[in-house]
Amino acid sequence: MKELVERIKKDGHVLSNGVLKVDSFITHQVDAELMERVGKRFAEVFADKGITKVVTIEASGIVPAVYAAQALKVPMIFARKAKSLTMSEELLTSSVYSFTKQVTSQISISKKFLTGEDKVLIIDDFLANGQAAKGLVELCQQAGAEVSGIGIIIEKSFQSGRALLEEMGLNIVSLARIASLENQRVEFLEEDA
Ligand code: 5GP
Repeated sequence: MKELVERIKKDGHVLSNGVLKVDSFITHQVDAELMERVGKRFAEVFADKGITKVVTIEASGIVPAVYAAQALKVPMIFARKAKSLTMSEELLTSSVYSFTKQVTSQISISKKFLTGEDKVLIIDDFLANGQAAKGLVELCQQAGAEVSGIGIIIEKSFQSGRALLEEMGLNIVSLARIASLENQRVEFLEEDA
């Protein structure tokens, strides 16, 4: 997505540990109009998959996921990282190691929101080593739901996430693919969509 690539070039900051900071338009301050166009793009790409739910993980996946869900006219569910006191019902759970925070957290979704009838589009802001997406896939598998696609805003293609998910037979579409963050420079690959 050309607009996204241009925005990363303009406002993204490379941190020395292979992390791209996009807190002025995605992960902290949010450019809602750009995120709406991102959500619509995901909806277009997966339009023929019969998606019934969009699933993401809190916090930064929520905004693009809700716009994708709005465009697809289906509900959006975000997996929680901390168990809420109001979540008394049965849960689907898995554990996810966070690349940026370097901690493992339990993620969960209420069983009542995902069933064997569902066809799920998973959305997240970044794909690095694939742990967040894999955790969400596991929640879908526990529910018996089908994962019909994975939409990623920024894929760091020099990390192992895409290979891990492709080995699981999953279809991944990334709107910006980064080949390298070496020498504080962002080098892009051809994007999927
Ligand atoms: P993975 O689970 O694929 O290793 O990492 C994906 C998760 O880590 C995303 O949900 C995102 O929150 C975070 N993440 C991974 N790499 C980056 C990065 O370069 N920049 C930012 N801002 N977040 C990242």
